[in-house]
Amino acid sequence: MEHTLQNDGFLVTSAEALFDAVRKDSLWYLTFGLACCAVEMMEAASARYDLDRFGMIPRGSPRQSDLMIISGTLTNKMARALRKVYDQMPDPKYVVSMGSCANGGGYYHYSYSVVRGCDRIVPVDVYIPGCPPTAEALIYGLMQLQRKIATGVPAARRMELAR
Ligand code: SF4
Repeated sequence: MEHTLQNDGFLVTSAEALFDAVRKDSLWYLTFGLACCAVEMMEAASARYDLDRFGMIPRGSPRQSDLMIISGTLTNKMARALRKVYDQMPDPKYVVSMGSCANGGGYYHYSYSVVRGCDRIVPVDVYIPGCPPTAEALIYGLMQLQRKIATGVPAARRMELAR
C-alpha cells in the first residue's frame, strides 16, 4: 500500500489541543478546604473513591497545582489569601467551586462576613451544588471539568474574562 498521510493514519491537531488531551488526565489539585464540604473532598481522595485513578493527586503547594478545589465557606478575611494562592498557580489553571457556600454564600448568604460566591474572587470553571455535595458529586463535577478541558472551554472562558 502506498504511504500517504491518509493511509498511515496521521492526525493533524494544534499543540494546545494535544496538551489539553493529556492535561485533563493529570490534574494535580490544591485543596482549599474552608469548612464542612472539605470532609467530602477528603473522602473523594480516600480508598473508597480513589481520585488518584483519574490522575488527580492532592498537592500542598500552589506552584505544583493545576486545579484549585474550593470547598466550604469563603469569608471576607480569607478572600485575599485565596486570591494570593490562586495567583501563585501556574497557567493553565482551573477552579472548581464545591458546595452552596462556595457557590454563593449558601447558608451564610446574608452574613456580613461571607463572600457571596468565590467567583467574585477567582474565575470558576465548574460549580458543584449541594450542602455538602457528596464525594460522588465532586467526582462527577471533576469529570465535567475534564470534558471542558478536552473541548477547550475553560481556556476560552479565561480569555473572555481577560478582555
Ligand atoms: Fe458546610 Fe453546607 Fe457550606 Fe458545605 S455548603 S461548607 S456543608 S454549610
